Amino acid sequence: MNFDQFSFDGRIASGIKSCGYETPTPIQQAAIPEVLKGRDVMGLAQTGTGKTAAFALPILQRLIDAEASKQGPARVLVLAPTRELALQIHENFVDLGRQTGIRCAAVFGGVGQNPQIKAVRRSAVVVACPGRLIDLLNQGVIKLDHVDTLVLDEADRMLDMGFLPDIKRIIKRLPEQRQNLLFSATMPNDIRKLADRILHQPATVQVANTAPAASVSHSFYPVPQHLKTKLLEVLLKTTNHESVLIFTRTKHKAKNLARKLDRGSHNATFLQGNMSQNQRQRALDGFRKGDFNVMVATDIAARGIDCDRITHVINFDIPDTPETYTHRIGRTGRAGRTGVALSFVTSEDKSMMRSIERIVGNRIERFTLEDFDYNQPVPGRNQPRPANARSRSGVGHRQRQGQGQKTSERGSRRGARR
Ligand code: AMP
Repeated sequence: MNFDQFSFDGRIASGIKSCGYETPTPIQQAAIPEVLKGRDVMGLAQTGTGKTAAFALPILQRLIDAEASKQGPARVLVLAPTRELALQIHENFVDLGRQTGIRCAAVFGGVGQNPQIKAVRRSAVVVACPGRLIDLLNQGVIKLDHVDTLVLDEADRMLDMGFLPDIKRIIKRLPEQRQNLLFSATMPNDIRKLADRILHQPATVQVANTAPAASVSHSFYPVPQHLKTKLLEVLLKTTNHESVLIFTRTKHKAKNLARKLDRGSHNATFLQGNMSQNQRQRALDGFRKGDFNVMVATDIAARGIDCDRITHVINFDIPDTPETYTHRIGRTGRAGRTGVALSFVTSEDKSMMRSIERIVGNRIERFTLEDFDYNQPVPGRNQPRPANARSRSGVGHRQRQGQGQKTSERGSRRGARR
């Protein structure tokens, strides 16, 4: 399954590519076709599921199809509860639509209004927090009488924050003929009522609860790419585990890593797409029975793994989407037990780390090992790594200072947005 199925305009397709998206997330698969058809949509999904692109991509396509002016008047209004979310949605529209030339404005309180008024007047898409938007509407400095698409994002949170009266007032200022999209993580009664009022024969799209189980603890282990295997060997030696499931990005790595661990002090097997059904079954049975205490797998191959003994999931390579993270770590902490999820992260992984923190709902602690030499050179390179080699990334700073196996207060607070 890839994005080709939606036949997006080439300029949008290149936006998708430049954002690094390869496969549509479940909410994108479900919502994009409905939005493209022009239907109203009730989307039940939380932040971290890829829901912004689920509405931004088909909205951009519809603007192109309608040959709408890229510079306004505003045709699309997205309402969001917080400045952070508004900025993120704005950024997503800008990144995905960069090649299209479609302009997007962000409107929120706490900063001067004049630049925002100017931006609204020359943008086809407006992403706004209700408070500031109603201010501008009341002053008569902006108009929304060409809006034909309305998105209410994180609607449950907007209602919790007391925005319902503002939302109603804003909706009164919009043309009646519109496509309406409402996204919410939960469906309390007041959201149901709001949906009944504004949505017309909506398509309901829903992703299963994607928040990881509360019984699983999460941690990040910053490590340079070339030291991952060594770090893994130390961790496997020093942690008290029953069965460990390790995820790698490629089939090749899964096989090589399992073989390497098996040659060491572990009974390790692997599971990847190139194996025959018999080979898979043998690996799975052996892992379930405990003949192997370590299994290295790729995401696709791991779909069928159902084993209650798994105490640890280790992301040797960070997953491509937050859903995949949830899916991977859903293999542990089952049946009322607790589980541990460890993820190796490099300086390349910062954006996905933030997405994972968002879906988990908390900042995830970073751990470093006291006796591990994080400065070991890349094999084949004579020169030791310069002391500041990774300082720009913000990842891997404290390891070099020899912190113990402790949390280091590092990284962006923006990660824990919820
Ligand atoms: P959202 O739920 O819209 O806040 O998205 C969560 C994160 O997932 C953001 O960092 C997006 O850039 C990212 N994302 C959205 N769609 C995809 C996709 N199809 N593949 C990979 N990452 C994605």
